[in-house]
Amino acid sequence: MRQASILGIAMTLSLLLLVPAHWLSEGQSERKSETKPTAGDGFQIVKVADGVYAAIAKPGGLASGNAGFVVGAEGLLNVDTFFTPVAIEELISEMGKISPLPIKYAVNTHYHLDHTGGNQVFAARGVPIIAHDNVAKWQTTKNRRFLPLPAELEKRRADAAKQLSETPADQKDKRAQLERQIRRTDVLLTIKLTNPTVTFGSGTLHLYLGKREVILFTLPGHTGGDVLAYVPDANVLFTGDMGWSKTLPNLVDASVGDWINSLDKILQDYPAAKFVPGHGEVATAAEMRDFRNYLDDLRSRVKQAIAGGLTVEQAKTQLVLPEKYKSFAFQNFAQPNVEDMYKELKGTKQTQ
Ligand SMILES: [Zn+2]
Repeated sequence: MRQASILGIAMTLSLLLLVPAHWLSEGQSERKSETKPTAGDGFQIVKVADGVYAAIAKPGGLASGNAGFVVGAEGLLNVDTFFTPVAIEELISEMGKISPLPIKYAVNTHYHLDHTGGNQVFAARGVPIIAHDNVAKWQTTKNRRFLPLPAELEKRRADAAKQLSETPADQKDKRAQLERQIRRTDVLLTIKLTNPTVTFGSGTLHLYLGKREVILFTLPGHTGGDVLAYVPDANVLFTGDMGWSKTLPNLVDASVGDWINSLDKILQDYPAAKFVPGHGEVATAAEMRDFRNYLDDLRSRVKQAIAGGLTVEQAKTQLVLPEKYKSFAFQNFAQPNVEDMYKELKGTKQTQ
């Protein structure tokens, strides 16, 4: 694996309340007095196979979820559009450095904003955006929980600007935090939730970039509207958020029972593939199995808790994450995962 480029420096985004905490993390350094949003440290491009690249999102950046692309003899295919237009613009620029050919297709693996926030950029370029039928239903509706309406964002921005103006110059940390909050709000204000232009709900879709083929298919688990992209001649599978590598998952829309079955099918069908997950580094089948086992462990532990008469609140506080998962990223998901699993097993979870 080769690093083709490392983009920029890190940026702290910990203050923001606009997206779930798991999309944010403590940043490493700050950039001051910058008004124009840039993706900065958003992602790192990793060559997975000849003409197959992952764009691995860095914690707290403006990419947020992983993306990637495939280069064929007649054009390129993009997988996922990151969290913000500015981040996908940077990826498109990096794609252009690797191949001068046109981008023929963009794929959304699912509707979550950290995978579709840059859709407007491809729409403006006339690139078809392909997704599951349910993305067309949810993209501009359910995503509102991740992206408040502009009026609300403007209000938050004004509040932060007022606080900044009232914060003395010697309170540097607080001022820096407020400045970051304002910058991030400015970026969020540039997002226009944009639907896919081609959708399917079952079966497979074969796309050709010249001789090179990319096969899209769907499996249930993460949202009920997930698409995976397989590159047969390179044996690379882009899983979207059906796969998380060394990272605790977001289960807010999940059906874990279906998801475990889907991962079993993936591992059976692609035993030697390289996997580009939705979050975390490029993974092997063994790492995908670790993730599958996390879900299975979670289900067993919560089942036991329910059998023992624990309430959801008791289960959340009493169930301790097994040692082997303590090195996973997004540790703040441990408790919400218990709650989501509990509701699923009780039949009280609303996933649609
Ligand atoms: Zn997701």
